Amino acid sequence: MTDCGCDELDCDTKQTLMPIDEALDLLLDKATLIKKTKTCPLNQAQGRILAHDLSSTIMVPPSDNSAMDGYAVSTADLSADTQTQLPISQRIPAGKMGTALKPGTAARIFTGAPIPPGADAVVMQEVCTVIEGENGRSDVQINGSVVQGQNIRKAAEDINTGDTILHAGTKLKPQDIGLAASVGIAKVKVYKRLRVGIFFTGDELREPGETLGPGQIYNSNRYTLRGMLEKLGCDIVDLGIVEDTLQATKAAITEAASKTDLVMSSGGVSVGEEDYVRIALEQLGQLDLWRINVKPGKPLAFGQITTSKGQIPFLGMPGNPVSVFATFSIFARPFILRKQGASETRANSFMVPADFTWHKPGKRHEYVRTRIENGKLKLFPHQGSGVLTSTSWANGLALIPANNTVNSGDLLNFIPFSELLN
Ligand code: AMP
Ligand code: MG
Repeated sequence: MTDCGCDELDCDTKQTLMPIDEALDLLLDKATLIKKTKTCPLNQAQGRILAHDLSSTIMVPPSDNSAMDGYAVSTADLSADTQTQLPISQRIPAGKMGTALKPGTAARIFTGAPIPPGADAVVMQEVCTVIEGENGRSDVQINGSVVQGQNIRKAAEDINTGDTILHAGTKLKPQDIGLAASVGIAKVKVYKRLRVGIFFTGDELREPGETLGPGQIYNSNRYTLRGMLEKLGCDIVDLGIVEDTLQATKAAITEAASKTDLVMSSGGVSVGEEDYVRIALEQLGQLDLWRINVKPGKPLAFGQITTSKGQIPFLGMPGNPVSVFATFSIFARPFILRKQGASETRANSFMVPADFTWHKPGKRHEYVRTRIENGKLKLFPHQGSGVLTSTSWANGLALIPANNTVNSGDLLNFIPFSELLN
């Protein structure tokens, strides 16, 4: 039997399939950085990839300050085991500087206010009693034990002057933006958005909103792929549906490559008579990678398109909707992240016990659609690569290694979708 390159059947192939890790290494190796950067205001930087290290020119906090509403005291003025009564000599709200603490007195102080010189502890107000005296004089009686440094946040305990707070390659999360703001940075240099050209091969495809004729199906891949690219912050040039001819496929690849940094397609990557993507790529440039030891997603046509502006990478994904989802998650995502300049490209995974059995060992490593319920993995009952319901139902992909069976309780490597779709 010859290999059909298909994704659904376990062909009795004579050709070797590339191991997943080798394919990933090859992809990452070919993922040259786009390099173009832009400066953007902090409030537009979320999800963008930082193009330079950020360092601080200030200390955070800028000075020793109170972690509590209470009373700033000098511990030298307090008796060890009896209550101490001290006159209140000043009031320091946040945003105001106090004056040096008069010996034998306490300063009323609020959270975030600078500790006055001479004070070495703050007593929280909950363990203090205020005693009103005559002529507006008030004393505070301290009831708890107090140690030096208590409730004082030290200057620079978070960030010191000159510290690098974020490294180039960081995909900026809300907390990173907050961190940059905490040192007063208003603008950051980020990599420009990757422009991705996409098209969808298949004479059977129609768009949602149109009426299906006999033998036709809706172009669901367009919507899955667009959504995943948007999650990665890509700009999309969408050429829509392309008919199953070599000429149309080549024209789509050429047009997309002239406008973008990366071209992606779905369908037409096997070796059927209606599959033109791989041939088109070979004629327009070179094919670097085609067959991977993975299910779904065995045929993944990766290569380079030769254009007047240089080599533009091409990723031809399989046509089956689940294959698109899985191939994007496992292969396209790290490739795109690396091209965008991200230092972190791999999704975190962890081991979770299976709550199912799998008795038919597969010839390829298989990413199955699973869902964590009560700490265990449930398996979607229909794992066909056309069953998109499985991806909607699942909350992650679990890896079943080739030639393996799974018994209930066996630990499987699980990648949550929250890791893949961010
Ligand atoms: P192909 O690789 O072109 O042979 O396609 C494999 C399977 O995926 C076939 O059943 C196609 O009808 C289906 N398919 C291809 N492209 C799409 C698409 N854009 N949306 C939904 N299904 C598709
Ligand atoms: Mg097709």
